[in-house]
Amino acid sequence: MSATTLSAIRATPVTVPLEAPLLHSNGAHWGRFVRTIVEVETADGYVGLGEMGGGGEDATRAFGALAEYLRGHDVFRLEALRFAICNPTASLYNNRTQLHAAIEFACLDIIGQKLGVPVHALLGGKLRDEVEFASYLFFRYADPATGRGEVRTAEQLVENARALKAAHGFRVHKLKGGVYPPAHELACYRALAASLPGDRFRYDPNSALSLADAIDFGRGILDLTNDYFEDPVWGMPQLARLKEFVPIPTATNTVVVNFEQLAANIRSPAVDVILLDTTFWGGIRPCIKAAGVCETMGLGVAVHSSGELGIQLATMLHLGAVLPNLGYAADAHYHHLVDDVIAGGPMKYSGGAIRVPEGNGLGVALDREKLKRYHELFRELGGYPYDRDPGRPGWYPLVPNRNWADPARSITPRLTR
Ligand SMILES: [Mg+2]
Repeated sequence: MSATTLSAIRATPVTVPLEAPLLHSNGAHWGRFVRTIVEVETADGYVGLGEMGGGGEDATRAFGALAEYLRGHDVFRLEALRFAICNPTASLYNNRTQLHAAIEFACLDIIGQKLGVPVHALLGGKLRDEVEFASYLFFRYADPATGRGEVRTAEQLVENARALKAAHGFRVHKLKGGVYPPAHELACYRALAASLPGDRFRYDPNSALSLADAIDFGRGILDLTNDYFEDPVWGMPQLARLKEFVPIPTATNTVVVNFEQLAANIRSPAVDVILLDTTFWGGIRPCIKAAGVCETMGLGVAVHSSGELGIQLATMLHLGAVLPNLGYAADAHYHHLVDDVIAGGPMKYSGGAIRVPEGNGLGVALDREKLKRYHELFRELGGYPYDRDPGRPGWYPLVPNRNWADPARSITPRLTR
């Protein structure tokens, strides 16, 4: 087979609206996702797709700078690609882990297209035809255009969860917290569990809690069907300390996101379930390697969501399809989006699951008209600061946070900087 060499990288920032702004412990997604869509072209005419984003900003220039490094690289040489982009010592100056992930997605897409197989077939072969997802519930501001979508009270949270379950069939529910005082979020989580008997639950305050708050919260949910307690406090030493007080499995997508941290967590156990993110870990293949370590060492794994349109979702589905030790529903922000840039429209949930794409490569294609439309929306609105809350100008959290949003206050802030 002749070498399939990389000839060009095209990156296009897009903005796709969310149903409503999503609050989290550091700030918010301001009513939209900004993602950078990456197209890798080869000298023999293939185009592979990648995606990056999550922080509210455009990554186009970073990909533009990479083109010089990669022109002429054989896209089949994925291990070489890792060192060409993110050699561990060079990464001290230029950390390109997430850029590498998007290029890896595109290279796998090209390899699959060229060989006429889906990406999962390149990764050991699928073990399942669909991947189950959790409902991923957020506290939300109302959409300023419609006045709808607010989730602030336990009643609103339960209504939102029931609607998502009715629409998509979710049986697992994740509450993103760390926004309101822990006692309010505990009441909301308990109301959620009471309203959906037989389902499973997980809580993720993104490390905002003090050890004392996390102990109180954990002891307050011991009687519920918890999958795990996700990043309740910051850092492996504190997570280990928390386990002495609260017998719920811990999970992280934050403090075990590379192999050095995974090794540290095995030497000094702190986290039970490693949430594998195809962007944070630098690609689909590093996640599979990490899952192998977890399988050996008796740690659980799940598929994490750092925000996604259909290309990134496809990477999560191919990953979820091939992990033998996938013991939990995956997370996705996907159902909060109103549209996607992939051909055929957004992928659909059925029974809380999404089917693994079966086309060659990643199995998704761009809808050029939508790419253009949502690129125009990006140009109109610009980026947004992921780690700022539009409803609390000037606020930023400490870790642990003590300065919570007020759950008695219903506001609909402006969503421009
Ligand atoms: Mg998390």
